Amino acid sequence: MSGDERWKGYRGPAREALIRFGVGVWEDVWLRSRKGEFRGLVLPRNETADDRHVVLKLETGYNVGIAADSILDVVSKGRREAHYHIPEREFPTDPDKPRVTLLGTGGTIASRLDYRTGAVIPAFSPGELYGSVPELADICNLRTEKLYAVFSENMGPEQWIGLATAVAREIESGVDGIVIGHGTDTMHHTAAVLSFMVQDPPVPIVMVGSQRSSDRPSSDAALNLIHAALTAARSDIAEVLVCMFGPTSDRYGLLHRGTRVRKMHSSSRSTFRTIGDIPVALVSREEGVRPLRRDYRKRRKDRRVRLDAVFDDRVGIVYYYPGMKPDVVDALVERGYRGIVIAGTGLGHVNKPLYPALRRAVDAGVHVFMTVQTLWGYVQMYVYDTGRDLMDLGVVPAANMLPEVAYMKLGWVLGHTHDRDEVRRLMRTPVANEVTPREPPDGYLVLQGGLPEVERFLKKHRM
Ligand code: ASP
Repeated sequence: MSGDERWKGYRGPAREALIRFGVGVWEDVWLRSRKGEFRGLVLPRNETADDRHVVLKLETGYNVGIAADSILDVVSKGRREAHYHIPEREFPTDPDKPRVTLLGTGGTIASRLDYRTGAVIPAFSPGELYGSVPELADICNLRTEKLYAVFSENMGPEQWIGLATAVAREIESGVDGIVIGHGTDTMHHTAAVLSFMVQDPPVPIVMVGSQRSSDRPSSDAALNLIHAALTAARSDIAEVLVCMFGPTSDRYGLLHRGTRVRKMHSSSRSTFRTIGDIPVALVSREEGVRPLRRDYRKRRKDRRVRLDAVFDDRVGIVYYYPGMKPDVVDALVERGYRGIVIAGTGLGHVNKPLYPALRRAVDAGVHVFMTVQTLWGYVQMYVYDTGRDLMDLGVVPAANMLPEVAYMKLGWVLGHTHDRDEVRRLMRTPVANEVTPREPPDGYLVLQGGLPEVERFLKKHRM
C-alpha cells in the first residue's frame, strides 16, 4: 500500500504520529493518550479536515478525534477495512398507499461517510433508502430522484428554479405529496423561494434534512425522513413546509411554514424554529400529523399548481452593523445590483452616514427594503423620525418579513417587474404568509418543542 493510501487524508502532526507508531488507516488499534485509552479503527481522514487529530471509530459507533500531540502509545491489532454499504432492497409497491416523490438536492441527509475515501458521499436510491429506513414502505410508495448532490450553501438561483420546476412536474404527474431532501444550512432560504415559485400546491411539499449523518448513532436522518414522508403522504396541509426535529427528546417533529422558519442553531438537532408565529403542526409516528392551527391551505387534488420560477439575482442583503460605511451600499449600486434588503437594527435603523448612499441607490433605480435583524417583531419606521427620514429617502418597510425571506421575495419580484410601484405592491402583498397581520403572544416561543428542557430549567431554578 502506498504511503498516501496508508495515511489517507492525514497531514502534518497527525500523519507524523501515525508514522511514528507504525500504524495506518483501517488498523484496529489500542491507543493510549493523555486523555485515556481507546480501542477502535483508524479512519481515513477527509483532505480538508485539520491535521492535528487522528480519528478512531469506536465500537459504540461513535467517531472520536484524538489530538496527535496527546498520543502516548498505539498498538495495532490487525487490519479491518470496512466498506460502508447500505443494503439495497427493492422498495415494495402497494396500490393502496399514497404516492410520494422524494427529490434530493444533497446535504447531510443524503450523505454517509464513505470509509474508503473518508469523504461524505450521497446515498439516495429508493433501494438504499428502504435498506436503511424500512418504515418508509409502511407509509407510501416512494420514487426518488437525485436533482443535485450539493451542500446547501451551493444552492442558488439555478438550483431553486430547477427544483421548483421538478416539484411542479411531479405534482402534475399526480403524486400525493413531495419530500425534498436538502442540507439544513440554507433549507429555510430554499423553503422561502419555493413558497413564491410554486403557488397553490394541491398537495404537501415537505422539506427535510438532518443535522447528523446517518452513520452516526445520534443521527436524526431516519426520524426526520419518516416524519416528512408521513406528512407528504397523509397530511392535509398543502403548503411548503420544513419538517425537522422538535424537542431534543425526539418525541415529535415540527412542521414549519416555508416563509416563517429559520435555522437557529449551528449543531443542535432541534435547530429549526418558526419565527414570530407558531409552527403549523406536530408530527409523530404514533399520532401522525397534529395541526396546531387551522389557517393552512388544505389538500385538494383538483387544484392546479402554478409554477412561477423566476429570479433576478442582482439582489443582496446588507446586514447593518454600527460603524458601517456608505461605500458598502455604493459598491452594490455601482456593480449593478437592482435590489437591496437591509437587515437594520431595532425597529429598522441604519446610521446617518448611510442616508446619502441610500438616496443615491434609490435614485439609480435600486429597490431598497428594510427588515429587522432582531428577527422577531415588525419594522416600525413611524416611531422615530429617523425611520421617517429613511422612508422619505425611498426605503420601504417590509413589515415582519424575515431578512432572508425578503431577499428571496425581492429576487422573485424583480424577475417579473422593475416598475417601482409594482415592486412595492408585490412586496407588500403576501403570497405565502411571509407577512402576517400580527405576531401572537406565543409567537415568541424561542424554545418551541424544547419543552423538556424548559421544564428542567424551571425546576432547577425553582420557578
Ligand atoms: N452543510 C450541510 C448543508 O447544509 C449541513 C446539513 O445538511 O445539515 O448542506
